[in-house]
Amino acid sequence: MMATGRKAGRLAATLLALALATGAAHAEPPAKELFAAKGSPAALAPESVGFYSKGCLAGAAELAPDGPHWQAMRLSRERRFGHPATVAFLQQLSEEAARRGIWPGLLVGDISQARGGPLPYGHASHQIGLDADIWLQPMPAQRLTQQAREDFAFRSVLREGTLTVDDRVWTDNYRDLIRLAAEDSKVQRVFVHPGIKKKLCETAGRDRAWLNKVRPIYGHHEHFHVRLRCQPGSDGCTPQESTGSGDGCGDLGWWFNVALKPPPPNAKPGKPKPPMRLADLPNQCRVVLNAPGTGAGNPLLMAAPRDAAPAALSYAPIASVPIPTSRPMQ
Ligand SMILES: [Zn+2]
Repeated sequence: MMATGRKAGRLAATLLALALATGAAHAEPPAKELFAAKGSPAALAPESVGFYSKGCLAGAAELAPDGPHWQAMRLSRERRFGHPATVAFLQQLSEEAARRGIWPGLLVGDISQARGGPLPYGHASHQIGLDADIWLQPMPAQRLTQQAREDFAFRSVLREGTLTVDDRVWTDNYRDLIRLAAEDSKVQRVFVHPGIKKKLCETAGRDRAWLNKVRPIYGHHEHFHVRLRCQPGSDGCTPQESTGSGDGCGDLGWWFNVALKPPPPNAKPGKPKPPMRLADLPNQCRVVLNAPGTGAGNPLLMAAPRDAAPAALSYAPIASVPIPTSRPMQ
């Protein structure tokens, strides 16, 4: 008995030494895994914590899969959670777009996970419940089945193999929808492909103030991305710098002449960043992660196999458009 006890003691000491050597920070899995495993919002007051690309979300609201003027897509991704202001914004935008005859409704893509946080695939931002993707396709007349919402193809508004908007697809209604979103005072910025920004610049006419919030970024030619400002009650939310006041139409040269040029054939791919750990996020995110859940969330969706999700990587750029590997946050 004594011998076994001593052996066990030695083993424990060895394990402890090993744990200290590898560093306690790595004892925890990457934050994206911890947050992706949470199916229901933290039962706390609504608050966005941290920055859009480094934070989390307490007290999330959930966008229903269906509304009078929207259908949420890719339900298995479980990213229909947002700050209540974001969910309300999407509902109002869809209603106003329909009321003005811009589009009959919206196809809504990813918002955030139930408690926000880093995501295992698809986005650097979308972490604090204030980012939402809207497909650049009017809502079809029919209600799509759950399976159809997985399979429904993304459609680029660019002419294949070019960086130019396809006028067989694009209409002024696309512009009017983006303008409607950008003119909302809650909206901090809207991200679109540089080719779309160029089209907006060319067709905006004289009233151009709204263009200032519409920012060019890689990708985003089959959906656009709306970012809300930090909302009241979110003391821990880090605001993003203002977009200033110009229309941004004079700054597109760099995108077309440098950023979107195909990389040289011998270009080395950028090193992947190490995954964010919980310790890298604001301390409050640990509280958000460990808080009791509201019990909300869709049990049907929570049963969906998680490892099926990357196969549905619907945000991959279309192959024929050159997209550099590094994607700076804008
Ligand atoms: Zn997005």
